[in-house]
Amino acid sequence: MKVNNSKQLTRPTWLQVDLAAIQNNAKAIMKHAGAQKMIAVVKANAYGHGAVAVTNSLYAIGIRDFAVATIDEGIELRQNITQQDINILLLGVQDVAQVPVILQYHLTPAIGDIQWLMKATQLMAMDDVLNVHLAVDTGMGRMGARNEHDVQMVKDFIDQSSHFALSGVFTHFATADDHNDAYYQQQVQKFQLWTTHAQIPEELCHLANTGSALWHHNEINTHTIRVGSALYGFNPGTPHLEMPLQLQPAMALKTKIGATHQMAVGESISYGATYTAQQPQLVATLPIGYADGYLRRLQGMKVLVDGHFEKVVGRITMDQILITLKQPYPVGTIVTLMGYDGEQQISVEDIANYAKTIPHEVLTILTSRLPRIY
Ligand SMILES: *Cc1c(COP(=O)(O)O)cnc(C)c1O
Repeated sequence: MKVNNSKQLTRPTWLQVDLAAIQNNAKAIMKHAGAQKMIAVVKANAYGHGAVAVTNSLYAIGIRDFAVATIDEGIELRQNITQQDINILLLGVQDVAQVPVILQYHLTPAIGDIQWLMKATQLMAMDDVLNVHLAVDTGMGRMGARNEHDVQMVKDFIDQSSHFALSGVFTHFATADDHNDAYYQQQVQKFQLWTTHAQIPEELCHLANTGSALWHHNEINTHTIRVGSALYGFNPGTPHLEMPLQLQPAMALKTKIGATHQMAVGESISYGATYTAQQPQLVATLPIGYADGYLRRLQGMKVLVDGHFEKVVGRITMDQILITLKQPYPVGTIVTLMGYDGEQQISVEDIANYAKTIPHEVLTILTSRLPRIY
């Protein structure tokens, strides 16, 4: 096992990342969607799984296209991935003043308007050429050309400029994982109409996020898919649509019992003294807290000890939590907060539902205080 940041495991609390699961998920979703190519979304530290390790493992199965949100995330990949033949797409809106940095690290920005391109030109040397992906806003409303005319204008501008090369054209769906697909179909129609009108070759287009690749692959061009959630093995929908294929969860969160004590009837624990023993109750202290990203509102959430469910009791503190124990276990016993313990599992979806959020948020808020073990 390899620990990141050459960190010692001085506190027995860690994230266990299954890179083989991510590789299997990548192959499975491509096969399911009938895709030839994947842009693997590794933004936000690969949804918490570790962007460099995930990128390397996907490189090993032939993936060469990766997407991040920010320039810093792009630089991190460029500096840590030894192979230089990867494309790094920046999905978010970028400050045009950063064009020299974008060029220096061979990053590929998503662009959506001519003003950005004109300003960028002023910051470029005579022989600088920047690869760009044209973002088409068909309904997400975050960035991109917003109608047929603008798509055409941006495309023409790029075609006529010696400074830009169009290496992709994409849109992002707002409701691909929704039961109601009316809004989705509107977005598809707009994209098809506008890009056909601008004579954009189909091979340049990438539309499908995870929801789209899972549930709409027969309705759109899936030559290239652009997925995050599927790689990490969770269902992106809320409320959930049924998964059409089996994906493997890639992350587990584990810790070890640090101390145990027997609570007498009437005794309370943790801030606010919110939990009081109604009968003698054995409890264990675990070295993890909300500063690790284990949300404060997970008070009452289930955990797994030795294949059995126990429960978080009392307030979650910054660095420690308390759980019930139905029988004594020694200090050092492994506790699973997320992942499998024998036959039993606590999924990221379970945690997200309990915390009234989505799996994406549960994973991306796991902080750097937690070592990732691969
Ligand atoms: C985050 C993001 C994705 C990945 O979405 P998933 O639903 O996790 O697959 C794809 N495209 C864009 C533009 C994104 O911002």
